[in-house]
Formats: sequence, structure tokens, C-alpha cells
Amino acid sequence: MPIDLEGERKRAVRALDNLLWRIQEAERDLERAQARVEGLFPMRVVWKKKTCGKNGCRCTRGALHGPYPYLIEHRDGKKVEHYLGKGWSPPEGMIAPERYHALMREFREKRERAERLMDRLYRVVEMMRGW
Ligand SMILES: [Zn+2]
Repeated sequence: MPIDLEGERKRAVRALDNLLWRIQEAERDLERAQARVEGLFPMRVVWKKKTCGKNGCRCTRGALHGPYPYLIEHRDGKKVEHYLGKGWSPPEGMIAPERYHALMREFREKRERAERLMDRLYRVVEMMRGW
């Protein structure tokens, strides 16, 4: 039986379109969750996407990881950013812990979802390079 290449191609394109749509939706959800978390902080803690430094990772082609927290400081009129680390938690007393934990749980779930979808997209792209 001949392989229906045209049918396979159409299915692959549909799956890719669907994945891209889900990534856009996940990114919008993540941005909203990020804005809620950032709104809790009295100081300049912001969440930004970053590279990981691994060769050949998707982030080397612009699909960054995160976002993760940074502390923004101004020194001698210059803006300095300090990476606080993936698992950073605010010091006790800075913000209401219950509200923080609820919003942070939501934010982490959305970040993981967006990261999973992005990993899947880049596996598909790698596979298609081999066609
Ligand atoms: Zn990376």
C-alpha cells in the first residue's frame, strides 16, 4: 500500500498549527500570572526570560527559559540586574506569604506548561529538519 505522504504532511502541519496556538495561549496565561506575582512586590523584583548556556538548547535559537526572578538596582545612574535563581523565595516579612504561595503556585504551573509546550515545539522542529 502506498504511503499517503500528502495526508501525512497535512496532519503534521495541522499538529504544528495546534501546538503554536497552544503555546500562544500558554504564554498569555503565563504573562498574566507573572503580572499578578510581580504586583505583590514592594521592591524591584521582576521576572525575565533567560538563556541556560547549554550548547544546542532551544534558547540558543531565541526560545528562552523562564521567566525567572531578577532584582533591579540602580547604581551610579546605571541599572544593574541580579539573577535571584530559579527557586528564589522572598524573605520572610516582605509580602503576605499565603497570597504569595497561591500566586506563585499558579505562576509555576503556567511556566512549566509553557516550557513543556516549547520543548515539544523544538523537538518537532528538530525532527522536521531531518525530513
Ligand atoms: Zn537553554
